[in-house]
Amino acid sequence: MAKVEIVDVRKSYADTHVLHGIDVAVRDGEFLVLVGPSGCGKSTLLRMIAGLETISGGEVRIGDTVVNRLAPKDRDIAMVFQNYALYPNKTVAANIGFPLKMRGERAAVTRQKVEEAARILGLEDLLGRYPRQLSGGQRQRVAMGRAIVRDPKVFLFDEPLSNLDAKLRVKMRAEIKELHQRLGTTMIYVTHDQVEAMTMADRIVVMRSGRIEQVGTPLELYDRPANQFVAGFIGSPAMNFLPGTLERNGTATTFLAAQGERIALAEGMTPPPGGHVVFGIRPEHLDLSFTELGDAFSATVAVVEPTGAETLVLARYPGGELTCICKGRPDVRPGQTVWLRPHLQDSHIFPAEC
Ligand code: ADP
Repeated sequence: MAKVEIVDVRKSYADTHVLHGIDVAVRDGEFLVLVGPSGCGKSTLLRMIAGLETISGGEVRIGDTVVNRLAPKDRDIAMVFQNYALYPNKTVAANIGFPLKMRGERAAVTRQKVEEAARILGLEDLLGRYPRQLSGGQRQRVAMGRAIVRDPKVFLFDEPLSNLDAKLRVKMRAEIKELHQRLGTTMIYVTHDQVEAMTMADRIVVMRSGRIEQVGTPLELYDRPANQFVAGFIGSPAMNFLPGTLERNGTATTFLAAQGERIALAEGMTPPPGGHVVFGIRPEHLDLSFTELGDAFSATVAVVEPTGAETLVLARYPGGELTCICKGRPDVRPGQTVWLRPHLQDSHIFPAEC
């Protein structure tokens, strides 16, 4: 186990600057997820920690060692990739034991470690099979087994579940989380999928265009997003955004929506300076009414999606749309006019910038 410190790390390919100075301190034993849209630089950062990319500037420390110039094999890390990278002509046991064989480990030790990894991952009955005889999830487990036997200080995962179907992804997500709880080893995990990030991470690093937007626990990011980008990226269905302006009257502040509604903001909310803002509200923080309400947005129901436990309502107003999640099964139909009242304590105001 080890902490990992990333200090002002930069990456450029000739004139193309991909990472602009990244600072993250990964705690010993932490499960840290790097998440962001495609191309934001998360894989590049992970590969720099692994030693698969050179570091253009800054420092990466694993434990107390600066690893900038160390070869990947000397960093005491194990990486699990999206494409498994298994040897097709080796059995599961030989695939898992391969790093130990390369290290010149004694056969008896290798066998014992392979069996232990197989037990942790539920692969005991498959040790004699070849990769082609395995499902996608089993192959991914073999790749994890190969990482486990090395007993590394840090595990690095690069989108390991992207090739699996939705149901298997959910299962493997839980397996990796359980593996972390069991091993207690520092893990850094890259994904573009915010649900994976939310469900697995101790802390999440949200990246955009080679910069960090916010670092925090899943619920910190969900409840207190630092900006509109993080607010829109974390959470599904996504947060609703309505453009408008603020009107201040003494200590009271009112949001004036572009389409005319007025929402008195909660006391203690510190709105950004400037006139133009974006009001943000998550779908579960809107109450739906069939009669006119103050401090509410009026809209016309476009789509109703019942999921059993709750009902998702998509409603449109001139210039935008609002998603609302209602508990239970309200009798709501397309074409109806509804009023959606935000819970003031759960509302957000962002500067109008993105
Ligand atoms: P992510 O993992 O977040 O999808 P990457 O780390 O793979 O993003 O890539 C970050 C950015 O770096 C992208 O814009 C990509 O085009 C660029 N990039 C990656 N590799 C190279 C390279 N060898 N040369 C130039 N640009 C690269």
